[in-house]
Amino acid sequence: MTVSLWQRTSNHTTEHCDVAIIGAGITGLSAAIELEARGISAIVLEADYAGSKASGRNAGYLIRGAAENYALASKQLGRDTAKFLWDWTQQNLAGLKALGIESTPGYAQRPSCIVALGEPEHSELVESHAMLRENGFKAELIEPKDAPSDLLWKSGKPTLGLMNPHDAVCSPIELVGLLGTALASTPIYENAEVFRIEDDGNRIALQTRSVDVIASRVLICTNAYADELIPALKGIITPNRGQMLAIKPHDRSHANLEFAYYLNHGSEYVRSAPNDQIIFGGARTYHQVNEATSADGITDEVQSHLESFVKELLTDAYDITARWSGIMGFSPDGMPIIGQVPIHTLNNKNIWYCGGLTGHGMSMGYQTARHAIAVMLDGDHTHFALDRFENT
Ligand SMILES: Cc1cc2nc3c(=O)[nH]c(=O)nc-3n(C[C@H](O)[C@H](O)[C@H](O)COP(=O)(O)OP(=O)(O)OC[C@H]3O[C@@H](n4cnc5c(N)ncnc54)[C@H](O)[C@@H]3O)c2cc1C
Repeated sequence: MTVSLWQRTSNHTTEHCDVAIIGAGITGLSAAIELEARGISAIVLEADYAGSKASGRNAGYLIRGAAENYALASKQLGRDTAKFLWDWTQQNLAGLKALGIESTPGYAQRPSCIVALGEPEHSELVESHAMLRENGFKAELIEPKDAPSDLLWKSGKPTLGLMNPHDAVCSPIELVGLLGTALASTPIYENAEVFRIEDDGNRIALQTRSVDVIASRVLICTNAYADELIPALKGIITPNRGQMLAIKPHDRSHANLEFAYYLNHGSEYVRSAPNDQIIFGGARTYHQVNEATSADGITDEVQSHLESFVKELLTDAYDITARWSGIMGFSPDGMPIIGQVPIHTLNNKNIWYCGGLTGHGMSMGYQTARHAIAVMLDGDHTHFALDRFENT
């Protein structure tokens, strides 16, 4: 984006800070909390409003691990990395609890459960269960005969479930609010899209329509929109749209699902939501070409696919209460990315990116953003180094 001279507001100000953060989603706000705890001055610049993008539009699962099962994740990432990731997400939830997430109205301690609708996922869950226990994680296999009597199991479709007993759900926008209120002295400028970054080697100048910020360092937390400011991240951070719908079953008692479920290797997800509602998301993997976009919007194809899942797995007696989409920033291996990034043609040492949380920013964003600050300021080794994609 470019902005003309005439479009910049007349009461334009210039502010100074040590670290400027671009983006007020979970990542940017969590990074700001870590900076404030260290006594470092920061300013957050947000194009729209805090939580306006993925952080305010997701399903609110706070899970251990990933939507994919542990056996498959271990095959794809290596067993040590998978174990590390599962530990990391546990620490993320512990950090959010320390911040007060349990006192937000939409929070509930709710086990997550990966459900197999047949093979090969059934066998993978059996294997995952054994591997998780070997690695010291609590997990339980749920057979249909011992399953809760909620609509999903009554459909007769699940053949097995793998349940994480200590997981939780929350309202994502309440989490954003919690992160925002945890900031005592860090200003958040909303409606302040950064359209230009200048680095003269000493200081970095960020331009928005209403305010300019001069900083010693910058952390870019713009998630799926990364390549708009950092063209070098094109092809590394890929925007992918996720669509959701909320229903209210005609029989209110049907809205009560015991667990927060994942289906079809995490492709679909369904859980109870406040006011006797159920939220259902996914179906993206069946429409990948159209859904590889950064455009907000719902489509008939995906929404009717989601509704066919609802009818097959839950009920056909319901009202639709909401439909929406959000844009995720996928990384090539599904793991977060932290690293120094080149802006324009300069290889700037003081401009950093933290993002690529794929579908798991709620479960690992707080922990990852705080780690990004340690990497940026202390030179800590990053677990999620950008240079792992050097040849991408
Ligand atoms: C439908 C859906 C369901 C999901 N479900 C879950 C779930 O249940 N559990 C889970 O763990 N994760 C889930 N996720 C993923 C999770 O929402 C994201 O990983 C997480 O919100 C990413 O947070 P973020 O702060 O990095 O990005 P965002 O929330 O996207 O924030 C980036 C911010 O940067 C701002 N910005 C962009 N460009 C500029 C600019 N030039 N100047 C200033 N500001 C800018 C944007 O306006 C935005 O506010 C889901 C995602 C979607 C879309």
